[in-house]
Amino acid sequence: MSALSTQDPALFAMIRAEEAYQKSTIRLIASENYASKAVLEASGSVFANKYSEGYAGARYYQGQVNCDAVELLAIERAKKLFGAEHVNVQPYSGSPANLAVYFAFCQPGDTILGLNLSHGGHLTHGSKASLTGKWLKGVHYSLDEKTGLINYDEVRSLALEHKPKLLIAGHSAYPRQLDFARFRAIADECGALLFVDMAHISGLVAGGAHPSPIPYADVVTTTTHKTLRGPRGAMILCKEVHAKAIDKAVFPGLQGGPHNATTAALAVALKEALEPSFRTYAANVVANAKTLAAALTKRGFNLISGGTDNHLMLIDLNNKGVSGKIAATALEKAGIVLNYNTVPGETRKASDPSGIRLGTPAVTSRGFGAPEMEKIATWIDRALKAAEDEAELGKINAEVAALCAKFPVPGLD
Ligand SMILES: *Cc1c(COP(=O)(O)O)cnc(C)c1O
Repeated sequence: MSALSTQDPALFAMIRAEEAYQKSTIRLIASENYASKAVLEASGSVFANKYSEGYAGARYYQGQVNCDAVELLAIERAKKLFGAEHVNVQPYSGSPANLAVYFAFCQPGDTILGLNLSHGGHLTHGSKASLTGKWLKGVHYSLDEKTGLINYDEVRSLALEHKPKLLIAGHSAYPRQLDFARFRAIADECGALLFVDMAHISGLVAGGAHPSPIPYADVVTTTTHKTLRGPRGAMILCKEVHAKAIDKAVFPGLQGGPHNATTAALAVALKEALEPSFRTYAANVVANAKTLAAALTKRGFNLISGGTDNHLMLIDLNNKGVSGKIAATALEKAGIVLNYNTVPGETRKASDPSGIRLGTPAVTSRGFGAPEMEKIATWIDRALKAAEDEAELGKINAEVAALCAKFPVPGLD
């Protein structure tokens, strides 16, 4: 980055500081990852200079010969990776991708049925705080508070009662696999389209570590920067019959020109995800999550649903005498970065809830395995017992940094 270091030393210093931070801390944010150097290079390429409203072969701008090739390559790889009939790679991020789906299929005031936000759903699944809950009628199913599992009987009864236009399966904080066949059957019974938002799990789906929604869903959205390990962006995958509606909803319905450098980086990430090593990666993400879950359970932590079978876990800290925010703040001082989260049956406010969410995608990209998961569980336990003991948190931070120094970071080292 020689140009940047001379042109803008202040900003350059911030990038260097962030690199150092990402190297020396343990990143357990379930939605974060480390993109490869190749993905980062494509993200910063000259495709950022281009405008390409429209689709390959039907653009509103001249000079698209290379942009068309890039977009078609990304689409072809995404179709191959997920076995999808049609793919749109233009959405700017997960939230706009979901808006495009609603724009394609719903009228204002229509009903959508998704997972309750405080039970692991996403804002864009009809939450009142989101435009999706203001322009549409969001109805929500919950987790069974005893088992921590999706209550499919409730999904079915709400679906039959409210007759939603879209039945949504997908989450930001649910530690178990989704039963897409069950969702499909309910959608068919109530006459809804099945919309799967696989933002969190698409890397696991790509790597064969989670069942694929593609055979079941009418339309699937995903971010590209979470378990899929690509650039920040999103895709919509759908059945051919919905292709026109989806493409029109993305452009001209919702967006202007696609971010071509992101599309280029996505093509690279999809190539990486098609390689056999990505299957190993996805399996390791889940194996690490299971190891970490068991190690935390052994130390008395209360994991929602009793564990995990994907990349994340959700912990209710009520039995530990610390709130989610106090825990997350203490852990940050100890060099372990995660987020506070609401839990099913939440009694506190969303800005300082009872839980924390942890995920293994980023640490697995770094090569962490079972021994490191055991260490992380020990550090989390120590840090939460010493949430107000700056000296102890500082000590843990040094131990964390020493371990991190032994594991090179993809994209940085
Ligand atoms: C992350 C996420 C999104 C939104 O993605 P952004 O890129 O942050 O807009 C949408 N749906 C689910 C389920 C997510 O986890």
